[in-house]
Amino acid sequence: MDRLKESACKQIERLAPRLKSISDSLWERPELGFKEVHANKILVDFLFDEGFSVAPGFVHRTGFKADFSNLKGGPRIGFLCEYDALPDIGHACGHNLVAEVSIAAAKATQVVVKEAGLAAEIVVFGCPAEEGYGGKIDMVRKGAFKDIDIALMAHTYTHDVVCPHLPARITAEVNYTGKCCHAIGAPWQGINALDAVVMAYQSLSHLRQHIKPSNTIHAIITKGGTRLNIIPHETTLQVELRADTMDELTELKRRVIACLQGSALQTGCKVVIDFANHEMKYNLLKNEALSRLYESNGKWLKTSFRSDDYHQTNVMGSSDTGNVSHVVPTIQPAFSVDTDAAIHSTDFMIKAGLPEAQWFALRAAKALAMTALDVIKKPEFLELIKADFDYEMRKDEDGSTK
Ligand SMILES: [Zn+2]
Ligand SMILES: [Zn+2]
Repeated sequence: MDRLKESACKQIERLAPRLKSISDSLWERPELGFKEVHANKILVDFLFDEGFSVAPGFVHRTGFKADFSNLKGGPRIGFLCEYDALPDIGHACGHNLVAEVSIAAAKATQVVVKEAGLAAEIVVFGCPAEEGYGGKIDMVRKGAFKDIDIALMAHTYTHDVVCPHLPARITAEVNYTGKCCHAIGAPWQGINALDAVVMAYQSLSHLRQHIKPSNTIHAIITKGGTRLNIIPHETTLQVELRADTMDELTELKRRVIACLQGSALQTGCKVVIDFANHEMKYNLLKNEALSRLYESNGKWLKTSFRSDDYHQTNVMGSSDTGNVSHVVPTIQPAFSVDTDAAIHSTDFMIKAGLPEAQWFALRAAKALAMTALDVIKKPEFLELIKADFDYEMRKDEDGSTK
């Protein structure tokens, strides 16, 4: 390994106790999306102390942007921090470690860039509310990433995966309105919104047989009536759709709308379908060149990655990092914290707070810093990365990603 990468790894080792205390502090005080006041402060303080110029409240109140620039004309490297937690189960997605990895990698890169006199800009983005809302979606819309060349982060998981499969995802709130009446006294006067919502749910279940295996539909009925002797006049359903490309997601959405409208027509109910477009998470676009750099650095650190086949059949979830990947070359490799427990489980939450998880987080941080240094030292890598980005965007627009 070259001297600069070695130096980056040493920086991360040197900072290990402080990084652990930051991660522990996030883990001990889990905060939901857009309420990450403590997490925001602790990360901003660290970056400020370490010589970054920090803009707190960037795009979101609990967001931030931290900048460090050395000489002019070098690549602009973005590191993405996530730090929100889940209701009731705290840091069961391991965002305490996700944030730690990004600040560690950014700091190590900064030190090496400074010492070696390399031209580069290092930008750390505080991205709140990844769970559910997707804080990065607004950041993309407001052009937060337009001045960077690549975006890097690594996410906690059960295995090490270079290019995890993160499909596009959209949710909808569906509301049926009928007419209430006494269930036995004069049912012919009623319009049954419960029938409408049940038929909609069943139609979606039938549709599942005729969609691609990679497309998914999940639905729950969140309101089904109030009293047994009142014909329900208002019911609601939540639907979540996923697909490998934005193109496929649009087609799936069209077919789902037909199911939802069909039951309204059959029962005489009114239906309002509210697709929460602000919550639309894009599929994570692969970047072959950037991924291979991360892979070779990871392998040097003795990471054993799962194969490409595994990436395609094991879905990690959906993330607003996908939206970032549609505007700037992005990687979000997954790193194991040595557990079989699924993310979003209590067991994973416990694991993410154990001292043993630190070794894995630091290794991911080293691989990210080494990847950043590859791009900073060799401009030809950036050309390849940009060419891959253009290629993947074209493929995605054709609906042929995979
Ligand atoms: Zn999560
Ligand atoms: Zn997560």
